[in-house]
Amino acid sequence: MYSTKAYSAASATSPLAPTQIPRRDPTAHDVQIEILFCGICHSDLHAARGEWGRTVYPIVPGHEIVGRVAEVGSAVTRYKPGDLAAVGCIVDSDRTCPSCMEGLEQFCPNQIIVFGSPDKHLGGVTYGGYSDSIVVDERYVLRIPSNLDPASAAPLLCAGITTYSPLRHWGIEKGKKVGVVGLGGLGHMGVKFARAFGAHVVVFTTSRGKTEDALRLGADEVVVSRDASEMQKHAGSLDYILDTVSADHDVNAFLNLLRRDGNMTLVGAPAKPLSVAAFGLIMGRRSLSGSNIGGIAETQEMIDFCAANNIAADVESIPIQKVNEAYERLLKSDVKYRFSIDMASLRSE
Ligand code: NAP
Ligand code: ZN
Repeated sequence: MYSTKAYSAASATSPLAPTQIPRRDPTAHDVQIEILFCGICHSDLHAARGEWGRTVYPIVPGHEIVGRVAEVGSAVTRYKPGDLAAVGCIVDSDRTCPSCMEGLEQFCPNQIIVFGSPDKHLGGVTYGGYSDSIVVDERYVLRIPSNLDPASAAPLLCAGITTYSPLRHWGIEKGKKVGVVGLGGLGHMGVKFARAFGAHVVVFTTSRGKTEDALRLGADEVVVSRDASEMQKHAGSLDYILDTVSADHDVNAFLNLLRRDGNMTLVGAPAKPLSVAAFGLIMGRRSLSGSNIGGIAETQEMIDFCAANNIAADVESIPIQKVNEAYERLLKSDVKYRFSIDMASLRSE
């Protein structure tokens, strides 16, 4: 065991502050990674502030991790010191359940999340990526091709896979009209992927000021979702909608935009339950679904797709000392489009 620098929150109302956390020494199958960048996902904020009601404190958030391999265990075959590597939400799973057998570790009932899950090595809970280094079994480590920039690759580990996976699952391709609701970290990646898959992309935003950006990111059309007449123009026309909104909002207004048999997938995880009007689904045999990040193999597929197609997140790189300010800006939808923490700032503290 060794001690490493990190930022943690002591309670739902405490700001993130510097601390020291334990990490295990790499065992035979482990990769030790010196963290270069860690993205800030809205899930970090929901969790740090206890909004989902299951946070164990102190919490070290962070699940969009890119770094350099520092050391590997004796049985590790796929990584060597110096490689660029990444870690997302999942750092272990039971490897035997039907979901694991299908490469869908994100649905394993015994999955271990990078922060706040029981730590079988050290006791206590796991600690996330707002830290200097991390140790993870090589099965759950991803490879980052050298043409990807570490700062803008980090958000692929959650914002990337969480949007790529449902778009793939629901067969988004040329000829489909796809809505992306909310242009934040997830939303802007959803737009890039839907565009790359050949769809006609409509962005629904509450921020009129994001219109130009939405078009630059790949949208064909932009709708200000608080404008009922703009919304009405798309009634019954969308094949698919990806809803990335982090707060309470009216999902019925979007269900009504789906064509017959259309589907809307929730990836946004607001703290409070959403209210769904039955007729929005009944009329038109529409469906409402959800999706959770993606499996390890699909995450690697998505990273390789990004490297081959020149896709990455639009990031604002910040020192870790600005993390609390970044959380406040996230709540005001004031990020273009993902904060990526430069972990050199932690080492120099
Ligand atoms: P984010 O960067 O804060 O983006 C959320 C966007 O939602 C905002 O930029 C804003 O877009 C829109 N929005 C915010 N408040 C709104 C409101 N009151 N009404 C309507 N729209 C609103 O957050 P993120 O990191 O992309 O995460 C989004 C959500 O996905 C979070 O709840 C997060 O926990 C969840 N998540 C789920 C998974 C999963 O596996 N399912 C994975 C990662 C994250 P506009 O300015 O364009 O309106
Ligand atoms: Zn996330």
